[in-house]
Amino acid sequence: PLANAPQECDKSKRTLLEDVFILKNPFSVEGKVTIVTGGGTGIGESIAKEFAARGAPVLIASRKVENLERVRDEIRKAGGKCEMTPVDVRDADQCDKMVAEAVKLFGRLDVLINNHGASITTPSMNLSPNGWRAVVGINLDGVFFCSKSAARQFMEQKSPGSIVNISSTAGVHGSPTMLPYGAAKAGVINLTVSHAGEWGPMGIRVNCIAPGPIDTEGAAPRVWPNPKVKEMVARSRALQRFGRVEEIAYPCIFLASDASSYVTGSLLIIDGGEGIMRG
Ligand code: NAP
Repeated sequence: PLANAPQECDKSKRTLLEDVFILKNPFSVEGKVTIVTGGGTGIGESIAKEFAARGAPVLIASRKVENLERVRDEIRKAGGKCEMTPVDVRDADQCDKMVAEAVKLFGRLDVLINNHGASITTPSMNLSPNGWRAVVGINLDGVFFCSKSAARQFMEQKSPGSIVNISSTAGVHGSPTMLPYGAAKAGVINLTVSHAGEWGPMGIRVNCIAPGPIDTEGAAPRVWPNPKVKEMVARSRALQRFGRVEEIAYPCIFLASDASSYVTGSLLIIDGGEGIMRG
């Protein structure tokens, strides 16, 4: 109703808040065609739902079709636009197909959220070459392949888009228990800066979020396997608690929207203030 308001209402009676929304909300993602990798669970599910709730047509993509179907159906039931496509981000051709699918379904692409990720907890001496390659392949190769496919589409449609890479604080501080994950996530931070530099002249923005502990089913068994460790992790940050999935989704909205039009190559650490406690 607010979108139609300017013609209908007496301007002098509008509140300041209404004015801001009527003029143009710079934080809007309405109509922005968005791909969310790993959109069938955890943080990705929240990102997909928050974007769709704000009028973004969303394509969710990962390997497990049953998770994607559930999230797609829930978004549609809530009145949002959502489609799904299976992808293994380790395969560059599948990433190309994922982007082509978004264009086929929605006519264009505006936003890519590289949210997919996976890890194993193993000391270096027990880590096989295949284990190393699998984790680096998903977390780092996957971000490169998806980003390349999306940027090519942005260039072809001659309308720059925004890429948001989900790294991790393990990529900032390292991780003695998840080495390939930490190394790959550090690579994602570096790749963000390089892509921002390479594609910035074309108006394409590339930014990175490094979450700290966010309470998801995917992360819990690996990172805080029991209540004692969980308590320790919570206490190790200024806010003394875990993050919620929406606390990553909202900053993604900011980085995808025009509100962040001069932000590129940046790293946003969202960890409840861990560094403060280390210092
Ligand atoms: P999650 O629920 O396990 O999410 C990971 C997603 O990645 C899954 O939906 C999974 O879907 C997808 N994925 C894994 N391998 C894939 C592949 N080869 N191709 C395509 N998709 C693949 O865990 P989460 O906690 O929400 O994590 C989301 C992101 O946040 C990850 O990048 C993670 O590293 C990062 N992060 C999380 C935390 C945390 O505390 N939760 C902290 C820092 C960073 P399929 O299995 O269907 O493929």
